[in-house]
Amino acid sequence: MQKGIVYILLLICSAKNGILCTHRNEPKEAEITDPIVLAFANQKGGVGKTTSTVNIAASLGYLGHKTLLIDSDPQGNATSGVGIGKKNLRGSLYEVYSGECSAEDAIRPTEYKDLSVLPATIDLAGAEFDLMDRPRREATLKNALASLPEPFEYILIDCPPSLSLLTVNALTAANGVVIPMQCEYFALEGLTQLMLTVRRVKNAYNPALGITGILITMYDGRLNLSAQVLDELKKYYADKLLTTMIPRNVKLSEAPSYGEPAIYHDKYSRGSLAYLDAAKELIRRVL
Ligand code: ATP
Ligand code: MG
Repeated sequence: MQKGIVYILLLICSAKNGILCTHRNEPKEAEITDPIVLAFANQKGGVGKTTSTVNIAASLGYLGHKTLLIDSDPQGNATSGVGIGKKNLRGSLYEVYSGECSAEDAIRPTEYKDLSVLPATIDLAGAEFDLMDRPRREATLKNALASLPEPFEYILIDCPPSLSLLTVNALTAANGVVIPMQCEYFALEGLTQLMLTVRRVKNAYNPALGITGILITMYDGRLNLSAQVLDELKKYYADKLLTTMIPRNVKLSEAPSYGEPAIYHDKYSRGSLAYLDAAKELIRRVL
């Protein structure tokens, strides 16, 4: 009887000291997972890659997912789009490629919830040249991200408008590709070329790579051509097409001049709500 009481007392004490409790601040091993890396790519210029990467990254952060936005375009529009000035940066993606700086040191927090950025400046244009005679040059970004101590849930990469070594590095580092595209006739031609590049990278460097989704941007259903192109896309890429479509919306084009993702610029605008939906749809797709 006495033994039983002592045993119960011991149980209560150890529970109080947390021995029987899971320590909330210590993630269980099973909870530590690799981040989902998505490359936003389309070699066609001005189709909404940067707008989509910035706003989906901000929406993921807004939803409470720790997100890293990587600006892999020397134009640096994603960097300024989240309010980071390109002068006096202590490191950028160029320095990561050249080995002068680790990815960890170049990553900066933004003022937005759960959103960090690995910024780019025009220097990044020189990275292709520097990489030229490096062994396994296509895996430079992947290797740089492998040792990040901060656990990100999502890493989104904004690619430049080309199928260059920067894009190949993004595709080699990624689990999936998101293809932002406008419903225009020439968009379909470009899509075939992009699919071919994705297949080549998959075969040569990254067997796990897949197309996560095609995201229609700047959609205007009143235009006959848009509806026709959309029908074609549904015919050939039905399973890849995201159901969320991004409408043409002035708030999306004015937000970057304030250094703000749309959700922090005008939360209830059609554009920011559409990107929030797109982020939720992508989460469902990659789970
Ligand atoms: P680049 O190929 O030069 O990197 P991109 O594919 O990244 O271009 P964005 O820079 O995102 O394209 O968009 C091109 C232009 O279209 C920008 O001025 C942007 O503000 C505008 N834009 C993008 N999406 C929308 C939208 N849904 N509604 C209105 N304007 C948009
Ligand atoms: Mg861009």
